[in-house]
Amino acid sequence: MANFFLDNEHLKFHLTHPLMKRIVQMKENDYTEAQSYVTAPIDFEDAMDTYEQVLEIIGEICADVIAPNAESVDEEGPQLVCNEVMYACGTQQNHEALINAGVYAIYLPRKYKGLNFPMIPYVVANELISRADCSFANIWGLQDCAETIYEFASEELKDKYLPMINLGYTCSMDLTEPDAGSDLQAVQLKATFDEESNCWRLNGVKRFITNGDADIKLVLARSEEGTKDARGLSYFLYDRKDKAITIRRLEHKLGIKGSPTCELVFNNAPAQLLGERRMGLIKYVMTLMNGARLGIGAQSVGLAEAACREAEKYAGEREQFGKKILKFPAVFEMLSNMRTKTNAMRSLLYETSRFVDIQKLFEDKARTRTLTQEERTEMKYFQRLADVYTPMLKLVSSEYCNQITYDAMQIHGGTGFMQDFPIERMYRDARITSIYEGTSQLQVVAAIRGVGSGVFLNKIKEYEAESINPDLQPLKEQLIDMTSRCEKAIEKAKGYENSEMYDLVARRLVESIANIIMGYLLVLDANRSSVYTHSARIFIAMTNAQNREKEAFIHSFSDKELASYKTTSGLSCEELL
Ligand SMILES: Cc1cc2nc3c(=O)[nH]c(=O)nc-3n(C[C@H](O)[C@H](O)[C@H](O)COP(=O)(O)OP(=O)(O)OC[C@H]3O[C@@H](n4cnc5c(N)ncnc54)[C@H](O)[C@@H]3O)c2cc1C
Repeated sequence: MANFFLDNEHLKFHLTHPLMKRIVQMKENDYTEAQSYVTAPIDFEDAMDTYEQVLEIIGEICADVIAPNAESVDEEGPQLVCNEVMYACGTQQNHEALINAGVYAIYLPRKYKGLNFPMIPYVVANELISRADCSFANIWGLQDCAETIYEFASEELKDKYLPMINLGYTCSMDLTEPDAGSDLQAVQLKATFDEESNCWRLNGVKRFITNGDADIKLVLARSEEGTKDARGLSYFLYDRKDKAITIRRLEHKLGIKGSPTCELVFNNAPAQLLGERRMGLIKYVMTLMNGARLGIGAQSVGLAEAACREAEKYAGEREQFGKKILKFPAVFEMLSNMRTKTNAMRSLLYETSRFVDIQKLFEDKARTRTLTQEERTEMKYFQRLADVYTPMLKLVSSEYCNQITYDAMQIHGGTGFMQDFPIERMYRDARITSIYEGTSQLQVVAAIRGVGSGVFLNKIKEYEAESINPDLQPLKEQLIDMTSRCEKAIEKAKGYENSEMYDLVARRLVESIANIIMGYLLVLDANRSSVYTHSARIFIAMTNAQNREKEAFIHSFSDKELASYKTTSGLSCEELL
């Protein structure tokens, strides 16, 4: 029987990373949860066994239900009927299959009907579902909103809404407005407190809201009259049963057609404040977005995996000039690069997930007792890493996903352009990954902080210090050389003394650093399993050359040129280009 978890050896490899022991022990409170819940694991092996069993169930649903439905879902799409979103038949079947299997809310604590899983198995599940149908991954993935409710809402809201997630109640994250996209500080949707009914009322428009008709909505709104920036924004929970939203339209999109994207009008909609006033964007949305960006990382890896498989299958069957096209070096190189990139981005996905997992586990501990000095230091260490690895992952994985689906279509030739093969849908679906949850350009704005602060370089030195099998030493030497060149490029860029010039090269710096980090991750993977040695070799050769190009651009400005740009205000970059 087909199973998307069992047919992919890479997933189990990442699930069994050495850090997992620590993560599971923290999550299960030294396995004391077993005293209160019969379903809680008694030790590490027991926990891993449960994760694998649940992922096998999800893997089977992906192979038997979600993937076979993907084409009809893409064709049929959702409908707007009497101000309600009706999912495509296949979407509804997918949703029900997962509800019946009891696998929603696997990461929530047991008291909220969850399975208390760490982040890693949840991310594996996201990857599996994205491989099966990228558009359905959004409906599944928006359950991340529960994490925000868990972390910041009152006990009353948590007790009411969190147990609903396991039952399949859906969520949405309502941030974007016509004049507030990348710049969420500009959000205008108005929240006013209604003394009479003792609740907040929301009025205004939101657009591009995925799953806009969800049961539980988290809405960013301006609660402080007269303010214009982030400090006037709060976060609210809206319950669909209050029926105070008009769905103005369902968007007609290029891809992810099964995922309903809505324009909404809030008509005096009753809502409850989530957390503290004024902290909406500054704290809660930033946390939610980081979780969602990890989700897009998983979505990109899952879709890339699906595209690689389609291309490998096609190239192994199609013959031209009397032989399988797979045998042509030009085709083989594309396939090899696609696999290599998928392995690299997957390593980055699970490395980032481990950092987020540990950071959140410390934060959770801090809710029940005061952390020791040592624990606080460690929490900050993982927090700093999670803060910069998450946007770097979103940037790299979404861009790679686009490149991989592009090459997968190329390998299909004209057939790929037709709707007869799934790659046509996958190519369209990939395009959104580098746009929503913050465009690639905005991920650079967040990730470049890790370049300036030295967080990335410090972590690279830690990777460098890890002992490895002597066979892998030549690869490490290349990474050491790439790091030293990258450090020089960073120093050069820091010396620009012109922030526009620094912004101009920021993406090159972030991508150079990402290439080195993924190179190290693949070498460390190869140290655990020789399956990854080939990918490590190819990836380092490929990115070494790419980094040289980026460095050449950064070093290309003479001191004289830079001095002259220092004196021109505003237009320096435009003049330069
Ligand atoms: C299918 C789909 C689903 C979505 N789902 C949701 C959802 O569920 N909830 C939600 O709230 N939103 C959702 N969105 C909105 C999405 O997050 C935004 O579209 C995205 O953040 C970009 O905003 P924008 O479209 O207004 O583009 P703009 O912000 O206008 O950006 C236009 C261009 O300018 C660039 N740019 C803008 N600012 C900068 C800067 N400072 N530096 C460099 N470049 C910059 C951008 O990178 C981009 O290339 C969805 C969008 C789509 C298309």
